[in-house]
Amino acid sequence: MLRQVAEGVLIHESEFCRSNAVVVQGRAGVLLIDPGVHDYEMAALANDLRELSQPVVAGFSTHPHWDHLLWHAELGAAPRYGTARCAATVRALLSDARWKDRVAKVIPPDIAEQIPLDLLGLITGLPAETARIPWDGPQVRIIEHQAHAVGHAALVIEERGVLVAGDMLSDVLIPMLDLNDTADPIEDYLTALRLLEGAADDVDVLVPGHGSIGGADQVRARIEQDRAYVHALRDAGVPDDPRVGPSATFGKDWLPGVHEWQLQHLARRRERDGTPG
Ligand SMILES: [Zn+2]
Repeated sequence: MLRQVAEGVLIHESEFCRSNAVVVQGRAGVLLIDPGVHDYEMAALANDLRELSQPVVAGFSTHPHWDHLLWHAELGAAPRYGTARCAATVRALLSDARWKDRVAKVIPPDIAEQIPLDLLGLITGLPAETARIPWDGPQVRIIEHQAHAVGHAALVIEERGVLVAGDMLSDVLIPMLDLNDTADPIEDYLTALRLLEGAADDVDVLVPGHGSIGGADQVRARIEQDRAYVHALRDAGVPDDPRVGPSATFGKDWLPGVHEWQLQHLARRRERDGTPG
């Protein structure tokens, strides 16, 4: 079921990890950002859009993680975009003949059969430094950064005051750093938070990749919450964060011990690189 969060901006929340698909109404159809997860959910979304006489005219994936790269045949054959880095990462994955096995390893087994992989990641990379998504609708500004995943884009739907944050600023998931592809994951994350902070004045509605929609007051509050977590992680301190620990939501089943894992991974990196604390 689609829910309006701002004029001409609707979301669909998935049963999986409270993932938010975002629909932006344009002149001749909609832009669909991170379309969803389950096969039947995306089919239902396609059906809802058909009933609204709103064809999908463009797609966008915020970052190259499987749950943001899916697509359903009934959504049609519109161009699907991502940043150049995002597209290159996906291309490298898809060039491996066994890519479906690799992706299947990170999908929770209980839902694996409901995840349609055939159209995963068929995106066109926008040239580096592209400022806006090329489509006929409200201007959507791209804020590219390297937190959480290579070539991650947050999007600002300027005329609607909406920030689509991708996998940051969630009220249910702690910041998950990209610990594989970057030289300084902590600094990359803090840099990205500063970029989002720079856009905060333009934003009345925050849509995270997973979790609750936030109002204007939530934008800076969640930036601060994410920053405090990343600082605690950097300093190997104990984060005072309701998203960590046994009280955390579904995340504990799907992602047990993410915080501990990140701590250990960073400690190993420091040992390897010989960098102090
Ligand atoms: Zn992600």
